[in-house]
Amino acid sequence: MPDPERPMPPSGPLWLEVTGFPGSDGWRAGFTTRRAGGDLSGVLPILGLPGLPVFRLVQRHGARVIPVGPRDTHQPPFPEGDGLATSLRGVVLAVASADCVPIALFDPDHSAGAILHAGWRGTRSRIVRAGVETLQQSFGSRPESLKAMIAPSIGPCCYRVGKDVLEEFRAAGHVLDGLWQEEGDGGFLDLAGMNRRALVESGVDPARIYSSGLCTHCLPTLFPSYRREGAGAGRILTFLGSTSAS
Ligand SMILES: [Zn+2]
Repeated sequence: MPDPERPMPPSGPLWLEVTGFPGSDGWRAGFTTRRAGGDLSGVLPILGLPGLPVFRLVQRHGARVIPVGPRDTHQPPFPEGDGLATSLRGVVLAVASADCVPIALFDPDHSAGAILHAGWRGTRSRIVRAGVETLQQSFGSRPESLKAMIAPSIGPCCYRVGKDVLEEFRAAGHVLDGLWQEEGDGGFLDLAGMNRRALVESGVDPARIYSSGLCTHCLPTLFPSYRREGAGAGRILTFLGSTSAS
């Protein structure tokens, strides 16, 4: 077991990218590791996206997904929300996380995509459904054509929550069968699994969902973890963007 009191030296790659996601027409997507230090400036040139504007959010653990259009600016103050969607070329969208579930969606038919940040509150509020609906309404996407990537988050091995959290999910109409392991006065929740189920319920083809399966809490040299390191934990940036030329 890693010692939570000792900072872990960063090692490994700056970022990780999933082969074939999004895989078309100059679009790239992936997630950073601890070594990137929560900053895309070292990553984008390697991806062939140097100097592009990076759109960010003030994340609120809600279910608001904001479309980014040609008149929008990436400069602060950032909008409040937990998702960004665009079909614009030459921009990058990014969400920050450190145990919460980052999700990227890409529509190869309409050359559009979204990134989402799903903590337990955002998951309860169904941010995945909001992300899929935003792509449908803004860009004409069909859910069955979407590709989805679930980036590293705290896994069911480590994500222990109280029964109050379970009750909040039940009160919001969620079914947790197979995603909740009760133990003592709480239990272990599969938050990534909940979001995967939400993607399928929103019409995304299970065969087009890539789940990293990596637990931020179990992999301290690769990823920051809020549960392990507290408020000073670094952040994973999950990103999606494209070159200017189509
Ligand atoms: Zn774990």
